[in-house]
Amino acid sequence: MERRVPDLWFTEYQTPNLRLGLRIKDVLLNKRSSYQHILVVDTMEYGRVLVLDGAIQLTEKDEFCYHEMMAHLLLCAHPNPEEVLVIGGGDGGVVREVLKHETVKKVTLVDIDEEVIKASKTFFPAVSCALDDKCVEIRPMDALLFVKGHFNEFDVVIIDSTDPVDFARGLFEPAFFKDVYVALKEEGMMVAQTESPFSEPDLLRDAVRGLRMAFEKVFLAWGVVPTYPTGLWTYAIGSKKLDPRMQKRPAPQRTKYYSDAMHSLAFELPPFINEIINGGNLEEAKGD
Ligand code: SAM
Repeated sequence: MERRVPDLWFTEYQTPNLRLGLRIKDVLLNKRSSYQHILVVDTMEYGRVLVLDGAIQLTEKDEFCYHEMMAHLLLCAHPNPEEVLVIGGGDGGVVREVLKHETVKKVTLVDIDEEVIKASKTFFPAVSCALDDKCVEIRPMDALLFVKGHFNEFDVVIIDSTDPVDFARGLFEPAFFKDVYVALKEEGMMVAQTESPFSEPDLLRDAVRGLRMAFEKVFLAWGVVPTYPTGLWTYAIGSKKLDPRMQKRPAPQRTKYYSDAMHSLAFELPPFINEIINGGNLEEAKGD
């Protein structure tokens, strides 16, 4: 008789009417921290998966698609990135990618929930591998408070936060973008994950609008992340001076999604995304 695979599934409701199901082999962690519910499941097709408050944060199979773009879009567009701030990102995936750049002297990781860092170190060693690097300083606190205390300090700020609810909501607000602006050096740039244009068009539009209230130049890039809602993701960029579309440094070694060609491609906005953020005015979309 054929061995029956248990019919166990993890389901993420990406919208009230759209869900993604992953058949699972095992539940590895199922706990509530002081901030959120933390789940780690081992799936049949996407390896281990980190879930916070019911939303997929990363899967072993496709996390590189996201973490590489969040790090290299700006680090390859900056002439000499030395001081990097990662907000959220407690799984360590962005930090791992940032440290592929030899110019980087220090990465400060500010995640409000230490339990996420611990869970990633336990269950996702290939993702969290750089968190113990001597260049990394981990500050387990609210980034909304952390950023206010810093001025003219960072070359690049990467906002790798959970969806804009509860304690993450403020990370998508113009006031926070203005605080990030102050924390950045003269040629500083920031990037934030700004969700899917299919499932969160209003959030995307509002985030870009908020960035325009804080930064001289605002750009949008996009990419593919299969297990994020709808699989198409966006990266909104605020820059004081530099144009992030112009690579200053080549793609680092050992990337699987990001490349020199993908850097240029990421800023070519499909008309429907341009419509969301600019009502169709292509020039404005390009940050010119
Ligand atoms: N790549 C994922 C995504 O795009 O949804 C995000 C991954 S990372 C695990 C998200 C992190 O943001 C969580 O660990 C959470 O604790 C952190 N976070 C949310 N709000 C925060 C805040 N106000 N300050 C610092 N960290 C925050």
